[in-house]
Amino acid sequence: MLKEFFLNATTVIAIISIGSQILINKDITPSSPLKLRLFFSLMTGLLGIILMSISVTVVPGVLLDFRYLALILTATYCGFTSVIITGLIIGIFQLFFYIGLSFSSIIATIVITIITIGCGYTSIFIMSRLKKWVIMSLYTLIVPSIALIISIDNQLLLIKTVFVYWIGTSIVSTLVYFYVGFINSAKFTYRKYQYDSSRDHRTGLNNVRQFDNELNKIIKGLTSNSLVTLLFIDIDFFKKVNDTYGHQNGDKVLEDLGKILLSSCSYSDIVSRNGGEEFSVLMTDCPRDKILDVAERIRLAVQEHKFYLIDGEAINITISIGVAIYPDTVNDINKIAEKSDSALYEAKRTGRNRVVVA
Ligand code: GH3
Ligand code: MG
Ligand code: MG
Repeated sequence: MLKEFFLNATTVIAIISIGSQILINKDITPSSPLKLRLFFSLMTGLLGIILMSISVTVVPGVLLDFRYLALILTATYCGFTSVIITGLIIGIFQLFFYIGLSFSSIIATIVITIITIGCGYTSIFIMSRLKKWVIMSLYTLIVPSIALIISIDNQLLLIKTVFVYWIGTSIVSTLVYFYVGFINSAKFTYRKYQYDSSRDHRTGLNNVRQFDNELNKIIKGLTSNSLVTLLFIDIDFFKKVNDTYGHQNGDKVLEDLGKILLSSCSYSDIVSRNGGEEFSVLMTDCPRDKILDVAERIRLAVQEHKFYLIDGEAINITISIGVAIYPDTVNDINKIAEKSDSALYEAKRTGRNRVVVA
């Protein structure tokens, strides 16, 4: 019996691990997209079915399993609708287990219905996950125990079965609760590292690696209607700022410039710090007749902004912008960065503080 318990516990953990790997970039909550919740319900439904098929034999003829854990898991993370779906999956499979209408099949159906509704109802309330988990675990201990009392006549066997069920469910349920908590915190750390590795630590903008990723994504999804604009931006005479006011003040200017760029661009624009004092704006939905306005607006916003230094002194800086537009000024999208860089070079060469189109 101990072996069977061990098998059950490891199965639950294995399935949760696989599921969490599949859903590593997704947030599972009652307000997640329906498709995602449906997927989660299918996974937990499958978990319930597997748990039913590796039941623990208390004595020959008396079997116990942890199928209700699948319902607790769905209810805690995914909410009411999902737990109903999981309950339905397990319930329908149960009918195949107890072929035909029998006392056992009626009892099993009543139990799964009561537990599904109970878990679903508990999931609606706003309370901590731990509290929900404890309430639902108690629920899945009590309801099946009543069913056992109804179905088993032999008192000694009944006590043994209920005892094994309570101990087993409590252990496996506690184990799963902490394991899911552990997985969630590992997922959080993974996502944080993933996010940090795509950001420039000084400005919070995309870093050059993320810029490359975003550009590659755009190139992959290119259609005949695509209009892609890349602005390469470089601060004019930035070395002088560093030399005159110090590196720390230079850093502050870079941070402020990042904010100006973000506030001058629309939400869908990809604003990056490509390195040093070089920035870029990648746009995929800027209409043709607005592109130069945007570039000019950014240039003017920087020119007119007062950059406050650490000691409170205000300075002005300017930027030069190189623009490349696919397919209008570059016909090979793979050359868009190269072209906007040469336009930027041209802007520098012809006097700085200006916008030049490739
Ligand atoms: P140009 O108008 O031709 O662009 O002149 P520039 O001085 O801006 O260009 P240059 O390439 O000669 O110098 C860039 C300067 O940017 C040199 C470097 O010290 C500074 N810089 C690069 N990264 C950072 C940074 O993270 N912080 C600070 N404070 N300065 C940086
Ligand atoms: Mg430069
Ligand atoms: Mg520069």
